[in-house]
Amino acid sequence: MTTPCIITVAITGSVPQKADNPAVPISVEEQIDSTHASFEAGATIVHLHVRNDDGSPTSSVDRFGRVLEGLRRHCPGMIVQFSTGGRSGAGHERGTHLSLKPDMASLATGSVNFPSRVYDNSPELIDWLAAEMRVHRIKPEVEVFDLSMIFRAAGMASQGDIVGPLHVQFVMGIRNAMPVDRDVLAFYVQTLARLNPQATWTGAGIGRDQMTLARWSLELGGHCQTGMEDNVRLNRETLAPSNASLVEAVATLCDDFDRPVATWREARQLLGIPIPD
Ligand code: ZN
Repeated sequence: MTTPCIITVAITGSVPQKADNPAVPISVEEQIDSTHASFEAGATIVHLHVRNDDGSPTSSVDRFGRVLEGLRRHCPGMIVQFSTGGRSGAGHERGTHLSLKPDMASLATGSVNFPSRVYDNSPELIDWLAAEMRVHRIKPEVEVFDLSMIFRAAGMASQGDIVGPLHVQFVMGIRNAMPVDRDVLAFYVQTLARLNPQATWTGAGIGRDQMTLARWSLELGGHCQTGMEDNVRLNRETLAPSNASLVEAVATLCDDFDRPVATWREARQLLGIPIPD
């Protein structure tokens, strides 16, 4: 039996792109509706940033709380993952919403250049975010933008700084960070398996490379991320009409690779996240 594929949907990024694609969900209601449609299409993790109504980024705990409450009600069983990155605050501001106890949160284990800035993750901030996640029993998704971050994550897992089985996401295709390169991805996968044989992983590609990474992840035994945070187009000609349309495209790809799409129960079992009552 092949391992079911967990599909993550990153519905809304931290950087405004509503002008490019008006279907990017911004309001609390839009975010809940878009996640619900994606859940029905097969997504079992939602990766979440929140915005103000004018589309500007915010780290408002109240806003995260309202979306979380709606998701718990409308998408029971779905895994909710808060972002601790992007532009939603600086320093410890990036972790104040963890007190709301989502199921997961992203955790970058190093710094990297992004298109026009440094994505700054100091050792102190990484340790503090990981400690907050331990206090609130939140499973981290380690965001790996470079090889050193795999080693940092494996080290944290072996010291008990990351609780439970390690889960990482390999991100490729951000300008000035790691390009989309299959040999490098295969080496990441092999290195992760050597350092932490139980670890699970997801591949995430940016823009038109979103589907490329989904395909390679299915081939190499990983899980997939899609959604409008990273890509607003179905293909070169067509804007994606919804997050759910991107999830459907990945679910179809899973069929091609004989990988069943994971149910929320299977996703929680694979990641070691408790099943809610
Ligand atoms: Zn994000």
